[in-house]
Parts: sequence; structure tokens; C-alpha cells
Amino acid sequence: VTVLGLESSCDDTAAAVVRQGRDGAQILSSIVHSQDDLHSAYGGVVPELAARAHAEKLDICVIQALHDAGLTLADLDAVAVTAGPGLIGGVVAGVMCAKGICAATGLPLIAVNHLAGHALTPRLTDNVDFPYLVLLVSGGHCQFLIAHGTESFTRLGGTIDDAPGEAFDKVARLLGLAQPGGPAVEAEARKGDAAHFALPRPLLDRAGCDLSFSGLKTAVLRQRDIIALDKGGLTRQDRADLCAGFQQAVTDVLAEKSRRALALYLTQDPAAPVMAVAGGVAANGTIRAALEAVCAQSKVAFVAPPLALCTDNAAMIAYTGIERFRLGARDGMDLAARPRWPLDQSSPAMLGSGK
Ligand code: ATP
Ligand code: FE
Repeated sequence: VTVLGLESSCDDTAAAVVRQGRDGAQILSSIVHSQDDLHSAYGGVVPELAARAHAEKLDICVIQALHDAGLTLADLDAVAVTAGPGLIGGVVAGVMCAKGICAATGLPLIAVNHLAGHALTPRLTDNVDFPYLVLLVSGGHCQFLIAHGTESFTRLGGTIDDAPGEAFDKVARLLGLAQPGGPAVEAEARKGDAAHFALPRPLLDRAGCDLSFSGLKTAVLRQRDIIALDKGGLTRQDRADLCAGFQQAVTDVLAEKSRRALALYLTQDPAAPVMAVAGGVAANGTIRAALEAVCAQSKVAFVAPPLALCTDNAAMIAYTGIERFRLGARDGMDLAARPRWPLDQSSPAMLGSGK
């Protein structure tokens, strides 16, 4: 099965071709056109600009993806597209492009949930079997999910306010660093001392797998202002220390909540237990190392996709399309873009019992 995937839910325009053969899935091409330059002057993604840029760039990405794969539309079995959740204008642009290709070629159209794309990436990269535990940490989301099947997820807990990626981006902005904030904060943190400033570990004393990051961001803001009042401004070292302290606080919280999520997951007695991490924040080296250590303690295999497959890409959308295609899923020309599209229903019986 060979599927073209399209992604345009945030600020990356992407197209990819993935083929599922007898011995696993193979990424034949993956094009990601970042809009970072477009939005950098505004300190955040401007939805209207993003939608227009997606509409302009999608065709080029598709042509390039087919070219890199050495294929034509005639070689495809289906077209998969992110149908949500995300910035509605961008999602509409992707869905329209996919519909156009399907209308012209007669290929089946497959709608993909962007979060499912992130959550199923470990199956694309590492052939992981269900059920596995996945921590989805991205720009807009943070949740612990048990993946039971392509379309079946149980949510064990998640953030009650900001997502960690959002917090990394805001902290970068507070400290005058470039966007996206994650890589910028990680680079600064390497030069800093994580123990220099005392920052909180929100919700650690609360049972279960819920997390919170907005207070942590505010603590960084307050600390920055205290230093500025004391000394008239931040030194390079202050900035590095704040980044290191913030990153360590996020890491500690994610690690401890992962311990609890693992305990809940292991009560299900999976034959080959796996914990995976996915989403843009999974690109962070300190966080990956801490989660790997937690898994090693529990003797659970740890899977972290390569960095380019953690942040937004279309290979994960094409791959999820392949899984849905093989299950017989087909969507119609009436497919609508969905700004909100939760992946799962939370399971009340499991919440609060993870301590
Ligand atoms: P969602 O998937 O929730 O809809 P999104 O698609 O915008 O949101 P992703 O592309 O998955 O999010 O991830 C982008 C986020 O990942 C940004 O907030 C970025 O700062 C963060 N990020 C990227 N690299 C790193 C890193 N090395 N360390 C920490 N955060 C990172
Ligand atoms: Fe994403």
C-alpha cells in the first residue's frame, strides 16, 4: 500500500509518500516547508498568514514528494490528509488540496487526526505493537495515552492548562530567544546551571497523571523580573540558568508522571510493554534521556522517533492513512475540517489511581 500524506494544521506545510510492504513501512519521501520565517516578526503563528501560505505551498510540496519518491499519482493507493485538530484555515487548505487530487484521479480520500499521526509514529519508525503507552508532548498537547489500536486510545491524563511546547515557546519569548522556543531554550540550557534558580514542579503532589505548565512559565517570568529589578537586566548566564532550570522542571514533572502512567499501563499486562514519546517536545534531548531512564527502571522498552518525525511532518499522516486504509476506512468529498478533534474519551475509572 502506497499513500500520499498531506499536513497543514499549524505552521508547517508538508507532503510525504509512505509505502507499507511485507517487512514494514518505508518513508519514500518527506517534504516539510516551515513557515518560521513568515511568523517570526509576530512572536507566534498568525492563522490568516499560515492558511494563505499553506494554500500556496501545498502543490509544490506534493510535486516534490512524488518526485523524490520517484512516483506519479498513478502509483498511489490513497491520499491521506490531516482533517484536524488545528488552525482551521490551514486544515481547510490541506483538505481542499487532497480532495482536488482525489477528484482528479479517483483515488480514495482518508481523513487523519493529526494527534493520531503523532501517536502512531512509533509504529512507523519502530514497528511497535498495540497496546503501547505513548506520551504525546507537542506545541498544543500533552497527554498520556494507551494506544490499543489505530483508532482506539485511552487517555490516562494530560495537561490542565498549557502544553509544554507552548511553555517552551513562551519562555523563549520572555527571555528574548528565537521561535520556535524549544530548540532555542534547549541550546541555552546547555550553558546553564539547572539548580541556580528554584522553580516549581507543578502538580507533583496530586495523584494521577495530570500535569500543569502555566505556573512554571509564570515562575520564570517572575524570576526574570526579580533579576532585572536587582541588577537592571539579565546576564547571559542568568538567561542560560533560567532555561536550564525551566527545562529541568518540565523534565522532572514529565518523568514522575510517566512513572505513574507506566504503572497504570502495566496493570493491563501487555505482552511486550513499550512506552513511546511523540510530538515536537519529544525532540528535547534532556527529556528523552529522563524518560528513557524511567523506562529502564521499569524494564519497559522505550521508543523515541528521530527528531524530524517528532515535529510536524506528513510521513506520520501518510502512515496513519495506511493503517486506516487497511482497516477499510474511506472518506467522502463531504469531509469537513475539524478545528477540535479529541483523540480519545478519558477513562474516569483509571484517573486518579496512578500514584
Ligand atoms: P500539536 O501537535 O499539539 O497540534 P504542533 O503541531 O504545533 O502542536 P509540534 O510540531 O508537534 O506541535 O511541536 C512543536 C513544538 O515542539 C513547539 O512548541 C516547539 O517549541 C517544541 N519543540 C521543538 N523542538 C523542541 C526541543 N528540542 N525541546 C523542547 N521543545 C521543542
Ligand atoms: Fe503536531
